[in-house]
Amino acid sequence: HMPTAELRALDAAHHMHPFTDAAALEKKGARVITRADGVRLWDSEGTEILDGMAGLWCVNIGYGRTELADAAARQMRELPYYNTFFQTTHVPAIALAARIAELAPGDLNHVFFAGSGSEANDTNLRMVRHYWAVKGKPEKTVFISRKNAYHGSSMGSASLGGMQAMHSQGGLPLPGIVHIDQPYWYGEGGDMTPAEFGLARARQLEEKILELGEDRVAAFIAEPIQGAGGVIIPPETYWPEIQRICDKYEILLVADEVICGFGRTGHWFGSQHFGIRPHIMTIAKGLSSGYQPIGGSVVCDEVAETLSHGEFYHGYTYSGHPVAAAVALENLRILEEEDILGHVNRVAAPHLAEAWASLADHPLVGEAVSVGLLGAVALTPDKATRAKFAAEPGTAGFVTRERCFANNLVMRHVGDRMVISPPLIITPGDIDLLVARARTALDEAHAILRTDGLLRAAA
Ligand code: PMP
Repeated sequence: HMPTAELRALDAAHHMHPFTDAAALEKKGARVITRADGVRLWDSEGTEILDGMAGLWCVNIGYGRTELADAAARQMRELPYYNTFFQTTHVPAIALAARIAELAPGDLNHVFFAGSGSEANDTNLRMVRHYWAVKGKPEKTVFISRKNAYHGSSMGSASLGGMQAMHSQGGLPLPGIVHIDQPYWYGEGGDMTPAEFGLARARQLEEKILELGEDRVAAFIAEPIQGAGGVIIPPETYWPEIQRICDKYEILLVADEVICGFGRTGHWFGSQHFGIRPHIMTIAKGLSSGYQPIGGSVVCDEVAETLSHGEFYHGYTYSGHPVAAAVALENLRILEEEDILGHVNRVAAPHLAEAWASLADHPLVGEAVSVGLLGAVALTPDKATRAKFAAEPGTAGFVTRERCFANNLVMRHVGDRMVISPPLIITPGDIDLLVARARTALDEAHAILRTDGLLRAAA
């Protein structure tokens, strides 16, 4: 390939990066990733990087699995594209839908394919409203979601999301979508115990339903564990109360499993970790381990049956794309035959839990928590009060992420929460390396924040 400097110049001239301040990036120069294997990336200068994020929470089986490349090549030769509109279907879509139905809990037996998580959540918005209309309750249209949630980037899915920064651009959310608070005990729990706080946050759903009128509320959507919102692990009291409220008021429960699904929490689906019974699950990312773009809505018998009379005017050119479906099937085969969930539960998650928790003694770290292979640390200027950092640009989370990347570890930050989501195949040795690099980055961030006078709490 071209020299790195030339690649960077072309990148800055022509390539608009998602979720990136282009001017700031141009000053630094983007790192050009050229190759990957297992849990490692290499950049154009040959430097090895440990991927603590599995790409964007998706490369669950790790990089470099040639079986997936072979499955894609075979499918491209045989049938590179066809759709499943009107009166046609094809083998990869049939086989993948059937396999997902087998893996999904309860009677979640039907799959509506999409090209991404955003598209799948847009499908959910339209499908749920249509469902209630067919049931003779067309006034049930409102979706309740949570602040700081991420459900995608299209107009619909970004409206379902609750990120202030996203809503501040382009006049979101769309009407008919409202948000309650997230169950983030460390940051927002104050003097309550986690159990009390979990119940209080769940009861906001009931309050919102009563405020709007139960005859107007269509669905509640949430991730079992909020991922991009900062790996927010709800207190144990939260989900049972949410389930009770959805049941009581006849509200559909939509579980966004885009991050939690396919082994991330040690179960096939994050709902199973909490014993939730959703009517619809959103899936994407880990479905194909990111090797091909694919997503979908997994729908229970009753909703599918209701929608099966008359046409639902919805679908994407790439719904159930044969190459993506063939790759996803191969990915599911590997997850199962290599017992990767067994590796998570017996080896990787217990090892991570212990190694990660050891970061709690660091002066910058307020809590260090994990479930399965999702982890987070909350950065704080004052452990005793669980204070937040003053929200100046370049503050704790940002500085720490930069130090991680400089130490060849990919972690993300959400405000002052550092998060990890490594490939599920990670070994204990690489978990130790990840935690060691994270600690070095925290030490360096601590020194920088002290020097720059940023070790201050928000007023
Ligand atoms: N839902 C969740 C929970 C996500 O984390 C994401 C992506 N980060 C999405 C939906 C959107 O998926 P995509 O980027 O494939 O559209």
